[in-house]
Amino acid sequence: MNKQKLAILGSTGSIGTQALEIVRQHPDKFEIVALTANSNWELLAEQVKEFRPKYTLISDEDHYQDFKKTVSDAEVLTGAENLPAIASLEEVDTVLNSLVGFAGFESTLEAIRSGKKVALANKESLVVGGELIIAELKKSDAELIPVDSEHSAMLQCLVGESMDDIEKIIITASGGPFRELSKEQMQKVTVEQALDHPNWSMGAKITIDSSTMMNKGLEIIEAHWLFDIPVDKIEPVIHPQSIIHSMITFTDGSSKAQLGLPDMKVPIIYALSYPERLPLDTPRMNWKEVQNLTFEPVDFDKFPCVKLAMDSITKGGYAPAVLNAANEVAVERFLNKEIGYIHIPEIVKESLANIELNDSLNTETLKEIDKETRKFAHSIIK
Ligand code: NDP
Ligand code: MG
Repeated sequence: MNKQKLAILGSTGSIGTQALEIVRQHPDKFEIVALTANSNWELLAEQVKEFRPKYTLISDEDHYQDFKKTVSDAEVLTGAENLPAIASLEEVDTVLNSLVGFAGFESTLEAIRSGKKVALANKESLVVGGELIIAELKKSDAELIPVDSEHSAMLQCLVGESMDDIEKIIITASGGPFRELSKEQMQKVTVEQALDHPNWSMGAKITIDSSTMMNKGLEIIEAHWLFDIPVDKIEPVIHPQSIIHSMITFTDGSSKAQLGLPDMKVPIIYALSYPERLPLDTPRMNWKEVQNLTFEPVDFDKFPCVKLAMDSITKGGYAPAVLNAANEVAVERFLNKEIGYIHIPEIVKESLANIELNDSLNTETLKEIDKETRKFAHSIIK
């Protein structure tokens, strides 16, 4: 494998820092060309000192001066509008997009337009603009490899298979911290409880999404675009232990699964090394230990976000972008303790019922609908 020149967008986040641990383990395989953060300039400065990228970007302009002072031999950019330029740098082979939310969309699109290998953690890119991204992918030499553990599992199950032989994708879900709560108990959920995920340690936004199971809804949309599979062939199943990361059932009735400890470094390194594998120094499953792998159906009544997401992709057009923008606003306002937990699906539902746009789908109209939905979602929060 040739040395890959990497741009990591969102290098200070949960995925970004784990990716850098992998780079640390394989200095002969990866070279860091660019690193970016939103506001955490202190950590970004440490990373720049260690990995010596040629380019670095701090999105939040308020921290530009402080950050710039600490960096001597890299080009320092600021402003989120410059992220797509980093994603399409001539010197870069692979873009790891570990930004969170719609903020990552244009960088994914630009990276694909410029023929990069894109290791995609930013699932929101595909949720809001899957149609545009896949259309660009078909026109270019770019590659789009999922980092999300479920989609990495699907990809691993599909090695050596024909897409025509897929009968069903079984996407597993831990069910989050509130799997066993009643609807009444869910009314009183606090931010602290929602941030306490049983199996995974992740950024705040995805942790809340996992607790509402909106994350699974977003992932169903993500799988739909990545593997060109209709939503009715993608079945979410609760698997509380998070050992089976997803399964594929083929037309002869055989199923394949990918298993391992819940550890994002495994799907991150797979996305970077695909189609090869690289050794990873990380804990292994102890298969001699007695343990249960259990499964149960998703309670769509208790977790309405899953259904809202599935319906939005069936509706098509801008509906998934509305769903995503409303969810981002609701999660942010919940994290700020300005709304209750159960208001999250209500805000998403109301936004989907009220925001409509019939213009043709393109980057500009997507940005417009995102902005309009955010405005609407804020307006219904008293
Ligand atoms: P984090 O919140 O931990 O990190 C997000 C990163 O993006 C940080 O570097 C942050 O900078 C930067 N960032 C945030 N907002 C902006 C913005 N508006 N403009 C520019 N940069 C921004 O997120 P995660 O690492 O948890 O998640 C990243 C993506 O990966 C998400 O789409 C998530 O759904 C997906 N994912 C994450 C998993 C996980 O285990 N964490 C698992 C599967 C998927 P700063 O530090 O300065 O705020
Ligand atoms: Mg996932």
